[in-house]
Amino acid sequence: MRAVDIIIKKRDKQELTSQEIDFFIQGFVSGDIPDYQASSFAMAILLNGMTPFETADLTLAMARSGQVLDLSKVVDIAVDKHSSGGVGDKTSISVMPMVAACGLPVGKMSGRGLGFSGGTLDKLEAIPGYRVNLTTDEFKQQLKEKGIVLTGQSLDLAPADGKMYALRDVTGTVPSMPLIASSIMSKKIAAGAQAIVLDVKTGLGAFMQTLEDAHTLAELMVDIGRLAGRKTVALISDMNQPLGSAVGNALETIEAIELLRGRAPHDYYEHCLHVTAHVLVLGQRAKNLDEGRAMAEKSITDGSALEKFRVLVQAQGGDVSYVDDISKFEQAKYVEVVNAPRSGFISQVHARLVGEASVLLGAGRSKKTDPIDHAVGFLIHKKVGDRVEAGEPLFEIHANDEAKLAEARKAVLAAHAFSDEFVSPLPLFYG
Ligand code: URA
Repeated sequence: MRAVDIIIKKRDKQELTSQEIDFFIQGFVSGDIPDYQASSFAMAILLNGMTPFETADLTLAMARSGQVLDLSKVVDIAVDKHSSGGVGDKTSISVMPMVAACGLPVGKMSGRGLGFSGGTLDKLEAIPGYRVNLTTDEFKQQLKEKGIVLTGQSLDLAPADGKMYALRDVTGTVPSMPLIASSIMSKKIAAGAQAIVLDVKTGLGAFMQTLEDAHTLAELMVDIGRLAGRKTVALISDMNQPLGSAVGNALETIEAIELLRGRAPHDYYEHCLHVTAHVLVLGQRAKNLDEGRAMAEKSITDGSALEKFRVLVQAQGGDVSYVDDISKFEQAKYVEVVNAPRSGFISQVHARLVGEASVLLGAGRSKKTDPIDHAVGFLIHKKVGDRVEAGEPLFEIHANDEAKLAEARKAVLAAHAFSDEFVSPLPLFYG
């Protein structure tokens, strides 16, 4: 077999066999197939799609490209959650400690930013010293001893996804249903999760812009999960506007910590309670969603979720004093409050435009090797449906470069739309 023939076959809209997919993934991981052929392959998949069978084959090939963890001796039931990516989505940073505080051990391998969408690892690295490169042995040991792990994809788990993810970020090949499904599910399968809650985003700032596409992606991933013998549930949540207020790495980590103190924007708080409740039910700690939600709320009010977060940060070498004193987080040089140019009801806060503006400030990458600026980003003060008066604070920019600040101001103002008529708030979940 030759890589180029497989690329040509996909370019010509033909269905690939399991052997061809395996050959390509193995060759890519071993280095026999170079990045330029893998980029071309990814683009052919983005343009021409894959059948559910091809997608399942691609997922399993990527999951088996490295070690597949068996956590059955580490925990009773290994649970995991994963979001399909969005703007201001710091859910894992709050949900994982909440779940662990409810007595259900959770180990998760997260990703970095992808295109305009932020990534949990970049956010966590805003805490000095926090290690995101645990080995699989460290992962297992920490899960057993502390009941919580939040790290990057270890190099020996689904290495094909690790390599492909970095390539997709900078080759315009992120928003592809089979690539997203296989990326997420290969990681989850390789990391040994027996029960998986997927948070599939839909809307302007999601890779799946329509509800129909989000449903298709959700069903595809649930099917792949079942095929691999994992209990899988998918929620479909709104990503038309950023989740919560903060967009940007340190700002989001601060907001996630504040949630654990019971101080968070309403939408983000509700979102996290709902996701936590689902994880607790799937992990057999709660009988139903109401019980799961009550447990989640209690973990915040009694401080146990915050304490679990401290345990997590300490276990991974992070400076725990940042958890107790958020003013220690790196601050941007310029902080500017932008006021509403007019009165009215907010009818749109375009999540993708806000996400792109945060990349422009330096919160994300344009090239694989770009460094991340943890301090920059936005605080969005008004959500769709809110009433705003002219001159009232609309959002805040945190920037380290004056020219970029000016560009970001323009872009985020353009992301906001106003209406004289009443506008209903957006739902948090669609299914
Ligand atoms: N999250 C992932 O892990 N992979 C994707 O492709 C998109 C979101």
